[in-house]
Amino acid sequence: MSTDSPSADPEVRRVQLGNTVFEGKNDVYVLQTDTDVALVDAGVDVPETRAELEAGLRDLGLGFADVSDVVLTHWHADHAGLAGAIQAESGATVHVHAADADLVSRSEAAWDAYHTLEERRFEEWQIPDESRTALRSFVDTHADARGDPVDVTPFEDGDRLRVGGVDLTVVHLPGHAAGLCGFEFERGEETDAFVGDAVLPKYTPNVGGADLRVDAPLQQYVESLGRVVDAGWRRAWPGHREPIDAPADRARAIIDHHRERTRRVVDVLDEHGPCDVWTVSAHLFGTLERIHILHGPGEAWAHLDHLAAASVVERDGHQYRLVDADVDVASLFPVL
Ligand SMILES: [Zn+2]
Ligand SMILES: [Zn+2]
Repeated sequence: MSTDSPSADPEVRRVQLGNTVFEGKNDVYVLQTDTDVALVDAGVDVPETRAELEAGLRDLGLGFADVSDVVLTHWHADHAGLAGAIQAESGATVHVHAADADLVSRSEAAWDAYHTLEERRFEEWQIPDESRTALRSFVDTHADARGDPVDVTPFEDGDRLRVGGVDLTVVHLPGHAAGLCGFEFERGEETDAFVGDAVLPKYTPNVGGADLRVDAPLQQYVESLGRVVDAGWRRAWPGHREPIDAPADRARAIIDHHRERTRRVVDVLDEHGPCDVWTVSAHLFGTLERIHILHGPGEAWAHLDHLAAASVVERDGHQYRLVDADVDVASLFPVL
């Protein structure tokens, strides 16, 4: 890592990658001095995406071998996949939050525990057998996209990383993933942040299905959105698509979306009586394919779990029953 003085207004350069497996339009950000090159996120490890990242870096006069640091926003394959390939060529330090470190380093114990948790959730959510089979086959087909094992250097909330000539301050934003982090940095008079999938410009990040290890995922996510609002960043550089110029407004819009979805979950239970998670998901999202077989019920569960914590619904085995049909849903979310 560099010992140069920090640049007052670092240039953020971006390589945008196609990605047909996951959400798509993954952003890799490049920070550099004459001697140090840092990437924020690395893209999914499939041959086409690797070629795109190599071409994008080549346009900047760089190659994998020049990278000194890779800073990961979270463990998902579309962000961490190519970190191992880059490290193999350059010996780069790969930084990731402690909560996601074992998954990125491909610890067998961590992945076994994750798969055990997956089977438990499939059962708790009452995902039908044929959908479980379809999901497993989708995940197995794309298992290589996670890339090579990585030797990781873990960080925690509040840590400072000096990479590519820029001082990044870690802001833990759990919800979508347990170890999801933003990285705050000064840009001129103001503060910007890389935010990974904590706040996205178009879609709302999946909560509940994207990382099964997160307890009370909607509550944690809403608190993370509160941190985004409080931070007052001028601009957020997300993990997909285009920069967000008013990140606090976007965070508020995402809370509105979840408030509305919680309302719909209450309506589903009111109309159809006690339901399991899969049935609520079907009412919300219809028929699901590919990774959505996991993300749909995950999202439904996150909302049911949020309602159960507030005693608006009661869980009996796999069924959720509405206790208070007249609940003021707005009161279940903070005003930011
Ligand atoms: Zn993600
Ligand atoms: Zn993503």
